Amino acid sequence: MVGCRMQASTMVVPRSKINLLSLDETEMAGLVDELGWPAYRSGQILRWLYQRRVLSITDMTDLSRMDRTKLSGRATIARTSHCIVFRSADDTRKLVLKLEDGLEVEAVLIPDEDRLTLCLSTQVGCTLDCGFCLTGTMGLKRNLKPHEIIEQVFAAQEQLENGERLSNVVFMGMGEPLANLNAVTEAVRRLTNRQWGLAWSPRRITVSTAGLASRMNELAPLGVNLAVSLNATTEEQRARLMPAVSGIAPLKTLLAACRRYPLPPHRRLTFEYVLLAGVNDREADAARIVKLVSGIRCKVNLIPFNPFPGSAFRRPSDHDILAFQSIVRSAGIDVFIRKSRGRDVLGACGQLGPIPHSNVRTLTQIESRC
Ligand code: SAH
Repeated sequence: MVGCRMQASTMVVPRSKINLLSLDETEMAGLVDELGWPAYRSGQILRWLYQRRVLSITDMTDLSRMDRTKLSGRATIARTSHCIVFRSADDTRKLVLKLEDGLEVEAVLIPDEDRLTLCLSTQVGCTLDCGFCLTGTMGLKRNLKPHEIIEQVFAAQEQLENGERLSNVVFMGMGEPLANLNAVTEAVRRLTNRQWGLAWSPRRITVSTAGLASRMNELAPLGVNLAVSLNATTEEQRARLMPAVSGIAPLKTLLAACRRYPLPPHRRLTFEYVLLAGVNDREADAARIVKLVSGIRCKVNLIPFNPFPGSAFRRPSDHDILAFQSIVRSAGIDVFIRKSRGRDVLGACGQLGPIPHSNVRTLTQIESRC
């Protein structure tokens, strides 16, 4: 377990002051205008925040000393106060960030061959109640704000080791991204903005939904990739496994929305499918997946169930997983088995949530870098 590098001086937000990280581009322009400054100053401040990552207004050296004092009178830069890291035997790192109100949120850094993926959370807990997901057992504590999503990226980047660079970001951590769509949209804007933001290509970003069909189209203008968690092949099965979301959008509605989704050229949807032994991993399920996704430009990611304490499901045997894959593949669909990473630190899909960290420590190979 290691602590993230953060400066104590930036941790506390004085109540009356605005946290600059909480402002979007328009709000920043408003503040700049209020201070009587020229409009270009807004871009300068945003660049200091997102590109140079200063922790103090004093470090914004292309603002005059007087202007920095003036800005400091109104605003501050408040980063999350605390972050701990659990390192898995397979090098996956789970970051636990403590938010301003004491709640915790988790992000996971997943190295794999030539990729380094960051899995981000969008809610503390989750709006939904999928039976196979630990986060789902927590209920929703609250939505994350855009800057709390971005801070997961900052914290992860501060953990990177020599030569490491994030290659992909997936919104597949705690929570349902489309149930917090405004914050997700704003976070994506900050990640992709080329003038002052992190300037990432939206192609490197994937947003996963359990199936809030009516909101999927709102993602399209962002240019990010869309993943849809199918997880069941009949209405009954989906209603049993994912009651809340299947009540909002049954399988039929969800697949119709997938068919209508305005995919850019050369892109495809991803369907995720959690494999639960004896529940949705039979030949008939594999055959139904083929039918359900037919005509949709897509690939299928099979995610063998990652267990957590108290879970009622089991992971299928390797033999059954491969047999399932081969049925789907023989229909000409690209289908992959997602490697399970970080299971020993409860950092794998569906394992983020309310396990006391003291328990995690006993499971973890902990490495200290402080
Ligand atoms: N709410 C979003 C994103 C978070 S879950 C969604 O449902 O897509 C990210 C992925 O992990 C989803 O595909 C989900 O079905 C899968 N998942 C959840 N719990 C799991 C578990 N215990 N084992 C394996 N995959 C799981």
